[in-house]
Amino acid sequence: MKKVLTGLSTLAVSASLMILPSMAVAADTIGIAMPTKSSARWISDGNSMVEQFEAAGYEVDLQYAEDDIPNQLAQIENMITKGVSVLVIAAIDGTTLSNALENAHFADIKTIAYDRLIRDSAYVDYYATFDNFKVGVQQASSVVAGLEERFPDSKPWNVELFGGSPDDNNAYFFYDGAMSVLQPLIDDGSITIASGQMGMDKVGTLRWDGAVAQARMDNLLSAHYTDATVQGVLSPYDGLSIGILSSLKGVGYGSGDLPMPIVSGQDAELQSIKSIIAGEQYSTVFKDTRELARVAVSMADALVKGGEPEINDTTTYDNGVKVVPSYLLEPVSVDASNYEAIVIDSGYHSKDDL
Ligand code: BGC
Repeated sequence: MKKVLTGLSTLAVSASLMILPSMAVAADTIGIAMPTKSSARWISDGNSMVEQFEAAGYEVDLQYAEDDIPNQLAQIENMITKGVSVLVIAAIDGTTLSNALENAHFADIKTIAYDRLIRDSAYVDYYATFDNFKVGVQQASSVVAGLEERFPDSKPWNVELFGGSPDDNNAYFFYDGAMSVLQPLIDDGSITIASGQMGMDKVGTLRWDGAVAQARMDNLLSAHYTDATVQGVLSPYDGLSIGILSSLKGVGYGSGDLPMPIVSGQDAELQSIKSIIAGEQYSTVFKDTRELARVAVSMADALVKGGEPEINDTTTYDNGVKVVPSYLLEPVSVDASNYEAIVIDSGYHSKDDL
């Protein structure tokens, strides 16, 4: 018996020696927590990161939380327990992750906030995003350009405002950027907000939910536009724009002698590009998720190798505890005049899908 055991253990030792080299260079795992698959952009973010991390020799644990905060928290805690090297997180609610990030920190795991800033934590190491204020500027500028083009003789223009989710730091940047363009036009009487509803506390849309935006637009139309018409709607995200457009179409806008109001958007989602081509949604903002993935991958790679990630902004993103070193990419405004050059020629969408 003893002999057999010795023989077995010799076998086991030589087997483990044989596999030792590959175990010694086991790939680092990157934990990626994405908010939801209900919007195509996050699917594209996830896919691009998986592709690029794997190409760089990493293993990836990619999780979607379907906009459920406890679910996302559990996914992140699980990644920490599994011992990932870096966390890349696009938060559902940017204010609920402080404990998880503290745990990550004490487990020697670095955290990169992806697209959405994680607030109220000292343990957000880096932030990869777009120039979010500029996104808002582009949304409002396109609304104004559209108003001038479609409604040159209807000044003052009636406009309604929609904001993003109040638990998403980006929503305030989009809104503030947009208001930097619209407020002067409200002040000089070129634009009227008939509902009077202004400020993120009044115009925010929890969880970026298109159905919530559609219901609010229904209410605005019945409460304030029975004797007046609306010419413009500031919408911060394509998923909201589609809901807003349904509401408008439901009461006859876009047909007969009721022109479709100018509606903005964000993310260049397929349905919205189709809507732009059909002359319904006026514009969107293209943020190349492949590029954002590239920034996150290179940040994580630098952190794993003990280097310094490249950043280009050290002043804008104060999360309430620290200013998070960031890399900001440039958003691009898209409408019927340039969608082909921007989203088709770049390969983001294929012509066949349209
Ligand atoms: C992102 C936008 C997106 C929105 C809704 C924001 O944090 O920056 O690109 O439209 O979330 O998903």
